[in-house]
Amino acid sequence: MKEAQFEYKCRRCGKVTRNPSCRVDLAQYYMVCLAVDGQAGDWQHGGIIRRHDIHNCKDGGTGLSDLLGCRVVETEPVRRPKLARKENEELKLRSERSERR
Ligand SMILES: [Zn+2]
Repeated sequence: MKEAQFEYKCRRCGKVTRNPSCRVDLAQYYMVCLAVDGQAGDWQHGGIIRRHDIHNCKDGGTGLSDLLGCRVVETEPVRRPKLARKENEELKLRSERSERR
């Protein structure tokens, strides 16, 4: 499974950080929104992507980081065991139901 992660680079210390990932097509859409409007994200659920972020530098200072873009990574389909177990149970039920038809 492929996901996109937004990368930010701290102007002060140079550290590159990545925020939680999302679907690749959604990340590409967000990048277009950022380029056009300067902001993007799911305003209703709080997943906002901004051009800048704050970085707590290793030396105790605080830096301003800039959005570099997003990278695509290969991830395991199961990251949250409890949720994944529930999803797997639902998938199993669905496949059993479709087999009966
Ligand atoms: Zn920093």
